[in-house]
Amino acid sequence: MVALRAVCVFCGSSTPSETRYREAASALGELLAHRGIRLVYGAGSTGLMGDLANAALAQGGEVIGVIPVGLFSREEGHTGLTELHQVRSMHERKQLMYDLSDGFIALPGGLGTLEELAEVATWSHLGLHSKPVVLLDVEAFWEHLVAQLDRMVGAGLLTKTSRGLIRRASSAEQALGVLAGAEPSPAEKWISAEER
Ligand code: AMP
Repeated sequence: MVALRAVCVFCGSSTPSETRYREAASALGELLAHRGIRLVYGAGSTGLMGDLANAALAQGGEVIGVIPVGLFSREEGHTGLTELHQVRSMHERKQLMYDLSDGFIALPGGLGTLEELAEVATWSHLGLHSKPVVLLDVEAFWEHLVAQLDRMVGAGLLTKTSRGLIRRASSAEQALGVLAGAEPSPAEKWISAEER
């Protein structure tokens, strides 16, 4: 079991109409704070990012934001974080977020979330890191992505091993359990007995 000191969370910078997504972001922020795990994220103050960070801060948690210089005002950066790293580029931003974290959780989000998720999973697939990646599947938000991953495997474009790098959890507790290696990932169930 891995001791989690810091977890990087990817999530939407927009506010969704589905209140369960906002509740899930807040619940994850609170749980990280209660467990004494630092939150690392893209430093935004809006949407699910704001809900996540504000919930962690309200519970006395440490929140580390990473944002490119110049994008702070455009992206409505959060002004109340424990630590703010201003970096030169998007590439440096992602690299630093990844370096500062022991694992990754993707909450519902848009293109930015999808890009970060795909990149961090690809880096794991390439052996550039071995940190775990979990989809927090609130209200089955990620089910079509899971189906797409299955399709990639079926088409011979993704190995079962690489697909297994993206785990899945249905609650914040379960996501942290998967990251810490305490529970087998539900992702294991994606591969049927015949396929193995
Ligand atoms: P999106 O899912 O497109 O809303 O993008 C959110 C993800 O991309 C976050 O995990 C951030 O790291 C990054 N990002 C995109 N837009 C912003 C923003 N306005 N403020 C801060 N980070 C952002």
